[in-house]
Amino acid sequence: MRKLVILGGGYGGLKILLELLDKELPKDVHVTIVDRNPYHSLKTEFYAIAAGTEADTNARISFPEHDQVDYVFGEIETIDTEKQQIHVNETVEPVNYDFLVIALGCEDNYHGIPGANDFTESVQSFSRARRAGLAVGNLKAYGKVSVVGAGLSGIEVASEIRESRPDLNIRLLDRGETVLRAFDTKIQEYVEEWFEKNDVEVIHGANVEYVEKDGVCNNGICYVNDVTIWTAGVRPNHLARELPYEKDSQEKVVVNELYQVPEAPHVYVVGDCASSVHSPSAQLAGQQGEQIADILDAVLKGKEPEEPKELKLKGSLGSLGKSDGFGNMLQKPVTGLLPRLAKSGVLWLHKRH
Ligand SMILES: Cc1cc2nc3c(=O)[nH]c(=O)nc-3n(C[C@H](O)[C@H](O)[C@H](O)COP(=O)(O)OP(=O)(O)OC[C@H]3O[C@@H](n4cnc5c(N)ncnc54)[C@H](O)[C@@H]3O)c2cc1C
Repeated sequence: MRKLVILGGGYGGLKILLELLDKELPKDVHVTIVDRNPYHSLKTEFYAIAAGTEADTNARISFPEHDQVDYVFGEIETIDTEKQQIHVNETVEPVNYDFLVIALGCEDNYHGIPGANDFTESVQSFSRARRAGLAVGNLKAYGKVSVVGAGLSGIEVASEIRESRPDLNIRLLDRGETVLRAFDTKIQEYVEEWFEKNDVEVIHGANVEYVEKDGVCNNGICYVNDVTIWTAGVRPNHLARELPYEKDSQEKVVVNELYQVPEAPHVYVVGDCASSVHSPSAQLAGQQGEQIADILDAVLKGKEPEEPKELKLKGSLGSLGKSDGFGNMLQKPVTGLLPRLAKSGVLWLHKRH
């Protein structure tokens, strides 16, 4: 039996599995998915888990069942590329592979800021987002929350908390001169106005020096607060960073046009761990996953894989609570209810698939 092991059942990993099953796996191929969670996690919804406004069940989906697929649920500890084995904390026997897909996503980048790792909440894993939701939910009336980082996830977290808890004092620390640096000016202005109207204090030009249990120190001023949520940057999963393969300047694994590691063509990398000209997103991981499935299907069936076509990414969509939002639709910046509905539609389609 030839063994294909997929590390991570997130947007990239699950897409590869589903597409391979659609194409029919050769009978001598067995697939193992390794993930810490016994379900597919909808990371794009973690902002609502961290705000405590959505049930756990709305942010996860069951993995598919198939005779040629099995699952190992546990924390991956090491990837031994020499012996072609994966060590998982819950299992004594290592998981052996002939073909490997690395689909482990990303984690917080604390940029070496003292206290950031120890004293902030996170939206980068299900368990950390749940912990954040609990901390926010347990805040007494008029408690203080700081969100560090005003990219897509920081904006979504701050606005979701605001909508559900009008009493809280919410502060958003933004490194740039405007929120959402990667978006159009129209969207930036709309979101800035939303925060002003909804009484969220936005501090621009932030430069967090250190974080303590009960506060954040920024540009020489220490703000006392009860909960600090870190959304100020990500880096690839440490397991991918530690691989003995070439990385780019963002610590992502360099791959060839077939998403294979050039030094080890039986190893494929997808999503947040793979070097790409595009910014990391669920959409990118899903589209790459579809292409990797085509390539793997050919390789496993002994055919020559075709070089994938250029990716066609649609714009990103963001939420400002449950009935307002922003994003790029048909290459145009759009704000208000329409992009919010479109975001819910994308989620519905993903769950349905
Ligand atoms: C709050 C928030 C909102 C976002 N909104 C959007 C959006 O609107 N649109 C968009 O396109 N993107 C969005 N993103 C980004 C998007 O979620 C990621 O880019 C996407 O999830 C990357 O897919 P992936 O397959 O690389 O990794 P993931 O989907 O993160 O999957 C990684 C998998 O690996 C598992 N894993 C990791 N480490 C281990 C380990 N050591 N042991 C076992 N299992 C492990 C995880 O449990 C997970 O299932 C958002 C992200 C956040 C945090």
